[in-house]
Amino acid sequence: MKQVYLDNNSTTPLDERVLNARLPFMKEKFGNASSLHSFGREAKAGIETAREKVAALIGAEPSEIYFTSGGTESDNIALKSVAYQHQNKRHHLIASAIEHHAVLESVKFLAKNGFKADYLNCDREGLISAAELKSKLTDDTSVVSIMHANNEIGTIQNITQLSEITHEKGALFHTDAVQSAGKIEVDIKKLKIDLLSMSGHKIYGPKGVGVLYIAKGQRIVPLFHGGHHEKGRRAGTENVAGIVGFAAALELAEKMRPEEHTRLSNLADFFIGQIQSKISNVHFNGPRDNDKRIPSTVNLSFQAVEGESIILSLDMNGIGVASGSACTSGSLESSHVLMAMNIPPELAQGSIRFSLGRFTTKEDLEYTISVLPEIIERLRAMSPLYAKK
Ligand SMILES: *Cc1c(COP(=O)(O)O)cnc(C)c1O
Repeated sequence: MKQVYLDNNSTTPLDERVLNARLPFMKEKFGNASSLHSFGREAKAGIETAREKVAALIGAEPSEIYFTSGGTESDNIALKSVAYQHQNKRHHLIASAIEHHAVLESVKFLAKNGFKADYLNCDREGLISAAELKSKLTDDTSVVSIMHANNEIGTIQNITQLSEITHEKGALFHTDAVQSAGKIEVDIKKLKIDLLSMSGHKIYGPKGVGVLYIAKGQRIVPLFHGGHHEKGRRAGTENVAGIVGFAAALELAEKMRPEEHTRLSNLADFFIGQIQSKISNVHFNGPRDNDKRIPSTVNLSFQAVEGESIILSLDMNGIGVASGSACTSGSLESSHVLMAMNIPPELAQGSIRFSLGRFTTKEDLEYTISVLPEIIERLRAMSPLYAKK
């Protein structure tokens, strides 16, 4: 059976070129980067070259780049380590309601442990309002966390503006750039942020490695204690092959970005157009303008059908996608992102995220378009929600 992978926002296949960059550090260059001998120096050189590459690609300095175990850890450090650093003076945090769970759960944890938290709503397209941020910021706010691009709907935020507003109150600004890195421009100086998270496996790199950018001069309370790795801010023997792979992945993504952006925009337009012409009552979630979202993220709601059923039917045809709803203990829980956007529950439950990627071809999409109308028709025929004509 043909296999089509349209879940690139969940994870991406490792690019062969990234694998090749990693291989020497998984074989002969196995040293511990903390060792003083040549084996150790070789590993250390791999890490520092990677750090320089990553820094140059996002307009930062190498000393501002910290390697972590992934996006989740970077988000955790950005929230908790900053909150604890400033806890004697500031006790308030702000995050958008549509953040990844790595941010939301970190904020929730802090809110249970003596901090105060506020959440920012978004509009129907997933955009956070600068006015609302302004109204919720206080002199007590230590950190504001608003993601660069959303993983479910692809909406891109005006980070520069939000960060400037945050700085007026003396708070720090963190952005989760896991879904924007390698897809749109991520430039520290233009974004004017203090902390930024990235993850390797979302950019055709390895799983279990990420980056946290921390602006020069910012102090944080480490979450991991141990050796002096990463200047004492993140103890633990470095994942050398992962770090080298991360840098290779980001470098490759940046090199391919202009062409890939156009190619994926065109593919997304083709896909959305075909689906809307072949299936009735399909609602597009997020900004339809390809410049206002990551164009490879296509979130569609099929009225009166459950997302989970569509996933299973597509899976039987070899197609992998994700839904906006999560089936927990038998009851369908709508995505927190779609709920924040005020998408009616019956539409939110029928939402499917198709996320295209580097290896997605037009044939993949044509195949998906060839099986989807029948699936929706069959599911709607069984649905008590769908008005039968
Ligand atoms: C995947 C993802 C994360 C988590 O990254 P991991 O490396 O899987 O821990 C965080 N934020 C966003 C927006 C993501 O899409």
